Amino acid sequence: MVSKQNINIALIGNPNVGKTSVFNQLTGLNQQVGNYPGITVEKKIGFCKLPTNIKANILDLPGTYSLNASSIDENVVIELLLNKNDKLYPDVALVVTDVENLKRNLLLFTQIKDLEIPTILVINMADRMKFKGISLDIPYLEEHLKTKIALISSRKGFGIQELKEMIITYRTISTEPCLNSSVIDQDYFDSLRKAFPNQLLYKLWLVITQDVNFLNLDRNEIRSSFTKSHSDLKRLQQKETIKRYQFINDVLKEGLKIDTSIAKDYRSKLDRVLTHKVWGYVIFFLILFVIFQSIFEWSTIPMDYIDASFASLSAYTAAELPAGVLTNLISQGIIPGIGGILIFIPQIAFLFMFISILEESGYMSRVVFLMDKIMRKFGLSGKSVVPLISGTACAIPAIMATRNIENWKERLITILVTPFTTCSARLPVYAIIIGLVIPDTHLFGFLNMQGITLMLLYLLGFGTAIFSAYILNKILKIKGKTYFVVEMPNYKLPLFKNVGINVIEKTKAFVFGAGKIILAISIVLWFLASYGPGKSFNNAEQIITESHINDPLNDQDFENAVASQKLENSYIGIMGKTIEPAISPLGYDWKIGIAIISSFAAREVFVGTLATIYSVGGSDNEVTIKNRMAAEVNPATGEKIFNFASGISLLLFYAFAMQCAGTLAITKKETNSWKWPLGQLVLMSGFAYIVALIAYQILK
Ligand code: GDP
Repeated sequence: MVSKQNINIALIGNPNVGKTSVFNQLTGLNQQVGNYPGITVEKKIGFCKLPTNIKANILDLPGTYSLNASSIDENVVIELLLNKNDKLYPDVALVVTDVENLKRNLLLFTQIKDLEIPTILVINMADRMKFKGISLDIPYLEEHLKTKIALISSRKGFGIQELKEMIITYRTISTEPCLNSSVIDQDYFDSLRKAFPNQLLYKLWLVITQDVNFLNLDRNEIRSSFTKSHSDLKRLQQKETIKRYQFINDVLKEGLKIDTSIAKDYRSKLDRVLTHKVWGYVIFFLILFVIFQSIFEWSTIPMDYIDASFASLSAYTAAELPAGVLTNLISQGIIPGIGGILIFIPQIAFLFMFISILEESGYMSRVVFLMDKIMRKFGLSGKSVVPLISGTACAIPAIMATRNIENWKERLITILVTPFTTCSARLPVYAIIIGLVIPDTHLFGFLNMQGITLMLLYLLGFGTAIFSAYILNKILKIKGKTYFVVEMPNYKLPLFKNVGINVIEKTKAFVFGAGKIILAISIVLWFLASYGPGKSFNNAEQIITESHINDPLNDQDFENAVASQKLENSYIGIMGKTIEPAISPLGYDWKIGIAIISSFAAREVFVGTLATIYSVGGSDNEVTIKNRMAAEVNPATGEKIFNFASGISLLLFYAFAMQCAGTLAITKKETNSWKWPLGQLVLMSGFAYIVALIAYQILK
C-alpha cells in the first residue's frame, strides 16, 4: 500500500475527555498555536512522526458536544469537516472519548462517522476502568460502530503506540456511516437525495441546519428548495439525536459492562463540600488566598532578577558600545523595553501554573458552578471569576485566562472590565500617594487609615469591574446562545506535562503577541523622553553648570539635575506642559503630567518618572522621593502640590484610567480588533478624568 507522506489528523471530542492530553502525548512540544482567521478561537496544530516515516499534522479542534453548533468553537469543527478543500481537511479523524462517559461522548462520534471520514474511536482514561468496574468488549464495539478502537490512557501513556499504528493504516478503516440519515425523515431525505445525487446526505443535512460557510455547494440553492420551517428543523434535529442515542444504547448494552459494586464514590462526597453554599466559598477564597500569596512571594525573586539583569545589561551596553544614538536606543530604549516585557513572565507563568492545576484536578468546574449564579446577574459567567481575581496580580495573564469562556459576549465583557481590578502595578503608585496625603493615624485605636484607604481602593476596583459589566451587558448588542453546560469531570491528579505545556504556551503567546506592542511603545516613549528641541534640552549640562556657578554640585547631584533639566525640556516634558491646562482642574501640575504620560506604558513608571523629575536620581529611595514630593508647592498659589484633594484625585485617576500598553496589546490580540482596546482606552481614561475632576473640585 502506498501511503501519503504527510497526513492530516483531526482530533475531535467533547470537552474534558482528555483531548489535550492525547494531543500532548502525540506531539510533545511540536505544537504551534495560532488563531483561526478572523475569530479568536485558538488553533493548535502539532506534528507527530509516525513509524514508516509518515509525518502527521495533528489539528486539535476545540472541544465540542455535537455537530449541532451553538458556539463559534463548534462552528470551527463543522466548517473544517464540511469543507474538503480546506488544506487541513482530515485524512483521518480521531474522536476522543472518556471511558466513564462513553454514552454521551459517542453522540459526536456517530455524527463524525456519518461524514464518511475514516474515523478512529479513541477511548481514553482506560486506567480508570478497573477502579470503576468497567469492562469493554472491544471486538464487539468495533464491529457495531464500524470503526477501529484505540483503548488508551494518556495519563499512563499506554495504548499510544497502538494508536499510532492504527493511524498509519487509516485507509483500511471502514467509512460506512453508523446511522442511515433517512431514519430522521424518509420523505425529506429521499427528495434531498434525488436533487443532489452526488452529495453525501448527512453533509447536506448539516449544511441545511447549520450556519456554516460551505464552499462547495450553493447553500442558498439547497435551502431555497429544501428548507423547512425553523421549528420543523429543530424537531428533526431532536429526532436525529434520539435516533443516535437509541443506536448507541443498543451497541453499549452488549459492549459495555459496569460492575457497580466495585465503583467507589468519593466524588459525590467531595462535590457536596466543594459546592456547598458556605463551605464552597470559604474553601475557594482560602485557595485563592494561598495562590496569590504564592504568586507574589515567588514572583518577586525572578522579577527582581530580571530587573537587575536588564539594568546591568543596559549599563554594560552603554559603557561598552561606541557612544551615539544607536547605543542610546539599544541601552535606554530596546533593552529596558524587552526587560519590561520579560518582567511579567514570572507572574504569568505562576498564575497559569495554578490555573492549570485547578483545571486539571477538576476543581475549577466546581468553582464555576458555584459562582455562575452570582456572576450571571452581572452579565458575566462563572468562568469570569478567575480572570477577575487574577487581575489583582496583572490584567495581562488575566485577560489571557478568559479563553475558556465559551460565550463571546460574556468573554468580551470580562476582557473589558478586568483592567479595573487593582493590579500589582498600581500598588507602588498607591503606596506613595497614600503615604503622602493620608495621615498615618488609627481609627478606633486599631484601624490604620492608610491601610483602610488601600483596601477601599481594591474594593473600588472590583466594584467598578462588576458594575461596568452590568452596564456593558445592557448596552452591548451581541447575540450568543447562553447555554450553560458545566462539565463535572472527575477529580484527578494533574498531569505535569499538561501543566508545563500550558504554562509555556501562555508565556509564549504573551511575549510574542503583546510583547511587540509593548516594545514599540517603550521605544516611542524613550525617544520622547530622550530628545527635545532647543537649547534648554541640548545644552542642559551647560545650563546647570552656569546656574550653580556659586554653589557647585557634587557629581551625583549634578547628574541628577541635568537629567531633570533634560526631562523637563524633552518632547515628553513639552507634552506634559502642554496638557497642564487640561489637568490643572484635577489638581496636577506639568510634572505630574509627564509622569502620567510616561506611565502610559506601565503604571509603575509613575514613581520612577517623578523620581527623575524631582532629581532624586535613579536610587529608588522612596523616603527621599516622598520628602521631595511632600515639599513641592505650586509657585502660583503657594499651596502644596500633593495635598489631600489632589492626592485623592490622583488615586482615583490611577484606579480607573487605562494606562497599560500591555493590557491594550493583549486585548487587541484576544479580541482580534483595535476597536475594543481603543474603547477601553478612551472610556476608562475619560471616566478616570471626570471622577478625578469631580473629586478634586469637591475636596479642594
Ligand atoms: P480536554 O478538555 O479534552 O482537552 O481534556 P484534558 O486533556 O485537559 O484532560 C482533562 C482531565 O483529564 C485532566 O485533569 C487530565 O489530567 C485528565 N486526563 C487526561 N487523560 C487521562 C487519562 O488517560 N486518565 C486519567 N485518569 N485522567 C486523564
